[in-house]
Amino acid sequence: MATSNEHDLVVIGAGPGGYVAAIRAAQLGLDVACVEKEASLGGTCLRVGCIPSKALLEASERYAEAGDLARFGVKVGDLELDLAAMMAHKDKVVAANTKGVELLFKKNGVHRYRGLARFDGPGTVVVKGGDDAVLHARHVLIATGSAPASLPGVEVDGERITTSDQAIAYPEVPGHLVVIGAGVIGLELGSVWARLGARVTVLEYMPEILPGIDVETARIAQRAFKKQGLAFHLGARVTAARATADGAVIEAEGLEPIACDRVLVAVGRKPYTADLGLDAAGLELDERGRIPVGGGYRTRVEGIYAIGDVIAGPMLAHKAEEEGIACVEGIVTGYGHVTYEAIPNVVYTEPEIAAVGKSEEELKEAGVAYRKGVFPYAANGRARALGKTTGQVKLLADEKTDRLLGAHAVGTRAGDLIAELAVAIEFGASAEDVARSPHAHPTLAEIVKEAALAAGGRAIHI
Ligand code: FAD
Ligand code: NAD
Repeated sequence: MATSNEHDLVVIGAGPGGYVAAIRAAQLGLDVACVEKEASLGGTCLRVGCIPSKALLEASERYAEAGDLARFGVKVGDLELDLAAMMAHKDKVVAANTKGVELLFKKNGVHRYRGLARFDGPGTVVVKGGDDAVLHARHVLIATGSAPASLPGVEVDGERITTSDQAIAYPEVPGHLVVIGAGVIGLELGSVWARLGARVTVLEYMPEILPGIDVETARIAQRAFKKQGLAFHLGARVTAARATADGAVIEAEGLEPIACDRVLVAVGRKPYTADLGLDAAGLELDERGRIPVGGGYRTRVEGIYAIGDVIAGPMLAHKAEEEGIACVEGIVTGYGHVTYEAIPNVVYTEPEIAAVGKSEEELKEAGVAYRKGVFPYAANGRARALGKTTGQVKLLADEKTDRLLGAHAVGTRAGDLIAELAVAIEFGASAEDVARSPHAHPTLAEIVKEAALAAGGRAIHI
């Protein structure tokens, strides 16, 4: 018999949005339950997304670099890939993170329910397939995340035609991997398998890679990826893909059919609300399958809230986390806030690509007059020492006020460099504020300082 339990807040989904919201709400004194259908906590991000992909990106980068150490005066013998050991490293990293969330739940007194959550009325959630229970709560937070999007004519079989769920765990290095979509997943996981020895062909519908990213920045990255051996077909809309006896064949407009060993379909993700019983709660989805929310992440039904990938906005773990915290702080204190302009976006390839705020294209379209400061990695002492001279940092500041409007970096550890610029935008800083702040020497962070100086026409080292 299912037990019937009362809580202040029930969170559905233990991804970065849901688990962080649950912990923060418990810190604020609420009696919190979190329902998760998978055996481990952490959601897409920890189980099959951010964390496993970054573990493989780091490991494969070591492998690629190890073959290129002679220029540092380091001789290594024959290199050998142990893919099983690399996957074991990834699994260990994932387990450390998902178990870490379990510990945090215990520490903060969050009640965890295993099983699928389904609404049975606005304040009632039925849990089935694990810790069966009927939960009653004044507040319910939906944080059910997203799943890979599909493409008409392309049937994912999980074997030859795959999504990122399988591409983080191929049992062998594919001879030829075709990636559909030059977005974040396509470039990150395409890079992993290219470094490990696969021939990688990327098919992209749009005329540029990473649509939406500052175009000058994306082009610098694309040149670097080409040098690493990735082949790109831009403006190539994939219309079909089918598995064959020993591989797959892909058809795209304007190209001959391409035969390969495996296909990675990376054409975006869609909000996940299957089996949630939204009707019973009185909720409807928008035209893109998202849960519409207003201020405080409230849905149209009193007491039900939604955050993360299942609502509008960029599908990023840190966006989901910020929303989760703002939502529960709003419930408890009456105030919660996310500065969307200050949410950074990082692609963890080599070079990394990182952005915060507006791109040049967006500023031009909005008719905003801006100043631009650019500084190349090639002119930075630390970048030279690292042997990583590809890339640049570009800052965009308001022509009149000098307020920082956007920052776009491409180069080694660009994702770390963007952090101070996100803080600068959050604080409403000017380019001069960044330029006048001391940056340690010799660090890559000096590239940021010089780009800020360049925005005022006074860069020193170029
Ligand atoms: P999710 O993480 O998707 O979590 C939702 C959870 O809800 C899941 O665990 C699901 O099992 C559970 N759930 C769903 N329905 C129910 C139900 N009815 N009952 C019970 N449980 C339910 N973002 C970044 O910021 N940085 C990155 O480097 C990055 N890398 C990525 C790499 C890959 C390969 C992928 C696929 C994604 C990556 N992302 C990255 C995106 C990131 O994973 C998502 O934006 C983030 O996980 C969204 O968090 P969320 O809490 O909204 O949803
Ligand atoms: P994406 O939206 O980044 O890229 C999808 C790409 O597929 C686009 O460039 C699109 O033009 C292309 N495309 C669509 N239909 C096509 C067709 N028929 N033929 C050829 N190309 C086609 O999506 P993704 O890479 O699948 O990633 C999904 C989400 O996961 C992203 O929104 C991202 O926010 C998140 N994610 C983030 C990170 C990170 O922050 N580092 C890493 C991985 C995933």
